[in-house]
Amino acid sequence: MKVEQETPFKLIANCIPVKGAKRSSICDLHRGSIQLIPNDLYKLIKEHEGNTIVEIKKKYDHKYDTIIDEYFEFLIDHEFVFFTTTPELFPKMSMNWYQPNTITNAIIDVGKQSDYDIHQALENLNELRCKHIEFRFFKKISLKEIKTIVAFLDDIKSSIISIDFTIPFDNNFKIETAQDFMYTYARVSSFRYYGSHENKFIAPIDNRRGYIIITDTIINNEKCCGVIDSSLFSVNINTFTESQQFNSCLNRKISIDTNGHIKNCPSMMKSYGSIKAISLNEVVEQKEFKKYWNISKDKINVCKDCEFRHVCTDCRAYIEDPENLYSKPLKCGYDPYTNTWQDWSQNPLKKKTIKHYELIG
Ligand code: SF4
Ligand code: SF4
Repeated sequence: MKVEQETPFKLIANCIPVKGAKRSSICDLHRGSIQLIPNDLYKLIKEHEGNTIVEIKKKYDHKYDTIIDEYFEFLIDHEFVFFTTTPELFPKMSMNWYQPNTITNAIIDVGKQSDYDIHQALENLNELRCKHIEFRFFKKISLKEIKTIVAFLDDIKSSIISIDFTIPFDNNFKIETAQDFMYTYARVSSFRYYGSHENKFIAPIDNRRGYIIITDTIINNEKCCGVIDSSLFSVNINTFTESQQFNSCLNRKISIDTNGHIKNCPSMMKSYGSIKAISLNEVVEQKEFKKYWNISKDKINVCKDCEFRHVCTDCRAYIEDPENLYSKPLKCGYDPYTNTWQDWSQNPLKKKTIKHYELIG
């Protein structure tokens, strides 16, 4: 402990403190975990990184020695800090986010009424060098039909590297069949079966990729999207750095709704035209289409004071004040000023907006 007391401390570069209104967090972007800390510890780290513990205690006239020791015990236990006589050799991690792809992710919704050409949409996405697709089927779909989609991506040597399928639960569902499918078609990274009688998570086996989620939730239309929950926090370098400047849901996203309308997200009213009449490329070139991309969490009311803002996915389709583009996501029940979670759908202050979006009730 003597060495630690007398050697300058330094934060591990990918363990990053985020200040909130009432408490802060340290996001461990390597381990993918988040620890909550008091704002006093945040302040200590920010003001004294590069100093020794002895120097810090002296600075506070030894009034807080016990608590300073406790704070450092916590930081050392979680491997957030190390001690070095050459802190200048350990620079901060860059917060720049760069992707060469015009579009990084897409949502494609398919319902009973859908009559647009999915293959055309996939070709368009390939031209935009899109990397990830989420397919949401609001109607029954067989693995055979899914196979034609995935095989087509192979045929066109698509830029897509991962696909998530959300599909209705089928009583003939077999875990092994879905897993075999994912192992055969490596682009498929998950299946989410909705409307089951149970909730289950099936992790990939043998260090392979590909997981399965079975849920009793009914996901039969686009309005089921946009829920903010701590289980959905994404603690990694990509989300953390992207969220510094860009919107953590809509940046570089394009969507096609069940009617074939091209949108930022299927839940939004604004359509940029039908995929039957205009290409995705032409839509992306429109300035208006990119208006959500730069709405980072630091610009959003309430979120800008939240200790989770760089790991939390945003939602701009359902917001607390539909007249204010910068208002908090409607489907978030977290209050960073009290550090409490509530059921957002039961909040009496949200009733009017919930009705406005025709969500429930
Ligand atoms: S903006 Fe909201 S509803 Fe749209 S895709 Fe994002 S989270 Fe879902
Ligand atoms: S307040 Fe904002 S940043 Fe915090 S959890 Fe809710 S949506 Fe996410």
